[in-house]
Amino acid sequence: DAKRRGRNTWQRFNPELARRQSDRVQVEGQLRRALDNGEFRLVYQPLVDLVDGRVHRAEALLRWHSPVLGEMSPDAFIGHAETTGDIVRIGAWVVHSACRQLAAWRREGLALPRVAVNVSWRQFLTEDLPQVIAAALAEHDLPGEGLELEFTERVLIEDAPDTHDSFERLRALGVRLTIDDFGEGYSALNYLRRLPIHGLKLAQGFLQGVPEAPSDVAICQAVAGLGHGLGLEVVAEGIETAAQREFLLGIGIRCGQGFLYAPGLEVDDFAAYLRRVGC
Ligand code: C2E
Ligand code: MG
Ligand code: MG
Ligand code: MG
Repeated sequence: DAKRRGRNTWQRFNPELARRQSDRVQVEGQLRRALDNGEFRLVYQPLVDLVDGRVHRAEALLRWHSPVLGEMSPDAFIGHAETTGDIVRIGAWVVHSACRQLAAWRREGLALPRVAVNVSWRQFLTEDLPQVIAAALAEHDLPGEGLELEFTERVLIEDAPDTHDSFERLRALGVRLTIDDFGEGYSALNYLRRLPIHGLKLAQGFLQGVPEAPSDVAICQAVAGLGHGLGLEVVAEGIETAAQREFLLGIGIRCGQGFLYAPGLEVDDFAAYLRRVGC
């Protein structure tokens, strides 16, 4: 009870903890209204061919401008949205917005092959994702190949009985399936044999130490070797320097994203980028 626990937890007022808790309450309170208030938008980061710089596809990244809290980065609110469950509605909005944008670009004559969206484990486990995806594709008259889903390893370790079934149904829609931040999570390699995925995205933490840190170099090489050995596409994120680009090409990674090329761009800026470099 409170008295017994009190000895350890309430002995001293912890201002840092109190501040974090009131932040959490505030963020969660604001999040609840954010979708209906139209406070979210997507920015698009190009994934480019590392040889010629042309655009392969785009990753849609969520941005939240709260009138109360200001500009919030996903790392500051996605976790809260997962806790409250708001991520399920937000995630569906992300899928629809990305599909709507891709369809609009295509109508404008921009031949962008594909847009990738991030899917939260909570969203994956809560709703019938294949059904949501199929509806979004149909509504915007897009082929499944136009969409890619990025899952973190968290989806895989939850190991719900119907994970495999969901992946098969998504794959049957023609949607591309990628494991994001590969190597950063729990990395049970077992699922690589079981699940019908198309690609791996190397966690950017490993690329940060390239080319100076031998352990990061070794891990990048191993991930590339593993992915390619399994017939998967391996892409990189967080490419910031020409040296990293050279290194990636040397280990057979030909596609990636990073500030060396462009950060997440507002819709019009992305279209301008695409017009300039082509795809
Ligand atoms: P992620 O999916 O791994 O996305 C890549 C993150 O790396 C993005 O951060 C991007 O802006 C950043 N980045 C790209 N290139 C570079 C680089 O060269 N240097 C550095 N330092 N960073 C780079 P962002 O947009 O802040 O998103 C963070 C994370 O939030 C994402 O990581 C993803 O896990 C999550 N997220 C973003 N949008 C969504 C969404 O719509 N739904 C869900 N569930 N999660 C999202
Ligand atoms: Mg991602
Ligand atoms: Mg990533
Ligand atoms: Mg990440």
